[in-house]
Amino acid sequence: MSDFSHCDVAIVGAGISGLMSAVRLADLGVRVVVLEQGEQERYLCNSRYTGGAFHVANRSINDDENVIIEVINQRTRGCADPDLAKAVAADTRKAVQWLKSKGLKFVKGGPEPYRDHTLAPPILPQAGLHWEGRGGDVMLRTLGNALKAAGGTLMLGSRARQLRMDDGTCVGLTVERQGVMCDISADAVILCDGGFQANHGLLREFITSAPEKLKQRNAGVGNGDALRMAREIGARLVGTDKFYGHVLCQDAMHNDRLWPFPVLDTVCTAALVVDGAGRRFADEGLGGICMANSIARLPDPLSATLIYDEAIWNGPARGHMISANPLIVSAGATILKAESVADLARQLRLSAGALEETVKGYNAALDAGHMQHLTPPRTPSPVEPHPIRHAPYYAIRLCAGITSTMGGIAIDSVGRVQNESSTAIPGLYAVGCSAGGLEGGPLAGYVGQLAQCSSIALRAAHHIATLREKL
Ligand SMILES: Cc1cc2nc3c(=O)[nH]c(=O)nc-3n(C[C@H](O)[C@H](O)[C@H](O)COP(=O)(O)OP(=O)(O)OC[C@H]3O[C@@H](n4cnc5c(N)ncnc54)[C@H](O)[C@@H]3O)c2cc1C
Repeated sequence: MSDFSHCDVAIVGAGISGLMSAVRLADLGVRVVVLEQGEQERYLCNSRYTGGAFHVANRSINDDENVIIEVINQRTRGCADPDLAKAVAADTRKAVQWLKSKGLKFVKGGPEPYRDHTLAPPILPQAGLHWEGRGGDVMLRTLGNALKAAGGTLMLGSRARQLRMDDGTCVGLTVERQGVMCDISADAVILCDGGFQANHGLLREFITSAPEKLKQRNAGVGNGDALRMAREIGARLVGTDKFYGHVLCQDAMHNDRLWPFPVLDTVCTAALVVDGAGRRFADEGLGGICMANSIARLPDPLSATLIYDEAIWNGPARGHMISANPLIVSAGATILKAESVADLARQLRLSAGALEETVKGYNAALDAGHMQHLTPPRTPSPVEPHPIRHAPYYAIRLCAGITSTMGGIAIDSVGRVQNESSTAIPGLYAVGCSAGGLEGGPLAGYVGQLAQCSSIALRAAHHIATLREKL
């Protein structure tokens, strides 16, 4: 340990953000130590579980930069920090090139543009979690080897606990190793802890009154240490109220074959989602990420139910890479089936009158082409709304699967942590899901986390290396 009591740069977390920053810095001759709380060689983190699609706002990374920025602004309703949006739109393709230069392979993971650059080997088209040997796992092992080869250090079993400050400048941190606290001094610290999705206290503070009723659709290691440490020393937080996630069958709360895939986003968008009173409570047309956020905000996040009919089940529920139909059936999901909406309501213990009225109102608005007059309105979407008209009728109880938080520590376009006056705190950086400012807004606009992690990781590394050259 004493060998590492001083380094040039200390990095908290060895996901994609931490390892990309570290390898780039080590390549540039900077003495870097990565602190990773996981103890096993193949420690779990979201980067190891990832689906591996590098996209920006579901656009191909090679699309025109200005078009990408426009889509980011639309999705976030103008809430994305313009400098961060520009940085990610411009630099994700460079980050992918850099990863290729380290030996990583990319494939076209599917027909949609957002899958054009997917880490190889891609995830399997199966229900459940299968990360061993897939793209994220290969990426972390490749970057770990590159770090070693470049002279950097990865310290497993090391949990950062506190930032050390001297007259407003970050000068290192305190780390816990096997129950013992040790100080590390460093000229710069980069926080890359992956977000606060696994911290119930922070989820309760920012996102939901019932965090235990969300499905942790992630590696369970994003404890919000970076956010807590940065807040303690006066960092500004941004966009902490939204998360990236998907709608899952509620059985995923106890059945591991039902997460992280298949997700029910497309079926929800094609059909109808009701609360415990049998009423619509959110705009299905806004897509699964927005719906997952709306479900999390219900007084009881386990009270949402998807209602659909046979035509939807054999239409939009099929035909994707990891489709709900038939995968959730073989994975053991509970699907309720009835010959009438009233009978479905009785099985769900909902008011039959309320559910019948909701379905009738929805079908009538669809027939009249007035979906925007529903309460709440149903906006148009690429997945069109389908009528729920022909028996058998079906219902699936839902839950919100939280993958990672969208907001976090405010940064500038090179990852420098901002204080409450939006001035950079010297010596302190945050990258990836520790940081906020790019995603979110009123509709939980998703931009793409691998894009954000990879582009800002390289920018932060360059910025630190350039500052050091000038000293
Ligand atoms: C199932 C799944 C599929 C996904 N698919 C995609 C996709 O296709 N495209 C996309 O863009 N995004 C996708 N994502 C999201 C994306 O993969 C993640 O957001 C990204 O990998 C996060 O990287 P990170 O480095 O910020 O955090 P992580 O990869 O979570 O790494 C953070 C690391 O920090 C460590 N750590 C935490 N606290 C401390 C501490 N105090 N001290 C030391 N270490 C600490 C953790 O143990 C962890 O190893 C997916 C995520 C999941 C879970």
